[in-house]
Amino acid sequence: MTEKTDGIITSFESGIGNTPLIRLSRLSELTGCDILGKAEFLNPGGSVKDRAALWMIREHEKSGALAPGGTVVEGTAGNTGIGIAHVCNARGYDCIIYMPDTQSPEKVAILRTLGAEVREVPAVPYRDEMNYQKQAGRFAASLPGAVWANQFDNTANRLAHYESTGPEIWRQTEGKVDAFVAATGTGGTLAGVSRFLKEQRRDVQIVLADPMGSALHSWVTTGEASMSKGPSITEGIGNSRVTDNLAGTEIDDSVQITDQDMVTMVYQELLTEGWFFGSSTGINLCAAVETAKRLGPGHRIVTVLCDSGHKYQSRLFNEAFLAEKGLRPWKPQRPLKTGARFSTKARAASR
Ligand code: PMP
Repeated sequence: MTEKTDGIITSFESGIGNTPLIRLSRLSELTGCDILGKAEFLNPGGSVKDRAALWMIREHEKSGALAPGGTVVEGTAGNTGIGIAHVCNARGYDCIIYMPDTQSPEKVAILRTLGAEVREVPAVPYRDEMNYQKQAGRFAASLPGAVWANQFDNTANRLAHYESTGPEIWRQTEGKVDAFVAATGTGGTLAGVSRFLKEQRRDVQIVLADPMGSALHSWVTTGEASMSKGPSITEGIGNSRVTDNLAGTEIDDSVQITDQDMVTMVYQELLTEGWFFGSSTGINLCAAVETAKRLGPGHRIVTVLCDSGHKYQSRLFNEAFLAEKGLRPWKPQRPLKTGARFSTKARAASR
């Protein structure tokens, strides 16, 4: 971003963006396509949501609604709150986060460590007035000097990806990108990146990746947003409604991914490749592989590596939790080491 000089990052916010593209070699070999992931887990707050956090806060500053000593209030499943808390610290604002009480405890702990006030509220549907997003909006309106970031319907979120993520992908691939695949929570990433890419090349395929228990797959494939059978252990993605950020986005195809396929993908990338990803990245990678199969070999598919696995140790990387949900972790079938066929004595001698 603007403050980066000769590779030196001079502030928290100038460290946001300009993430590398990683070629997922196992998946690329499996499909005969180039599968590339935008390494958003390398943002300084650890996720794709740092970009939206910065753009939304800047927008409130520009409008004059947010001034030194002010407060940023948000309803968030976690990563947006983490991004906002970092930016608030760097720019001198207080931060209050409303969060459904179904999210991983790691995210709550991180938010509190970052200095945010976290208000965990019962997870109720959006139509309910006690929904975490609506509570955040009402509270911000009642507090002098406070703004509601409003990531779902504030299109500064999508603008972040139109102005940064999309152009970065176009530059990094030198325009050689056949498809962009992403799961959506607010829709900001998919909506912003797709608008930019489609302006450069009309026939870039935009593919939604959707977990079970979300209404967006049916919205793309039938035009009606009706909920699919859930639930899903994924966090931060899937939605029951089409947000202002997502509305009007041209989406060519949609892939629905089960939790079991996501779990297998995340464990395989960790245990055979060394990459440690969270659940939405697992959904994105499964959908990228499916897109590669639909397009055929020789194409280049870009997706998003939204965050790392560190925040999901108590759930996605906890076998007891997975078993409760009827899910199985993937384990490598390691071939017997040559030494295993030796007698104990021979093995000792061979060391
Ligand atoms: N992955 C994770 C881990 C997230 O927290 C989010 C945001 N809620 C997303 C993906 C989806 O991003 P977006 O809100 O831009 O659709």
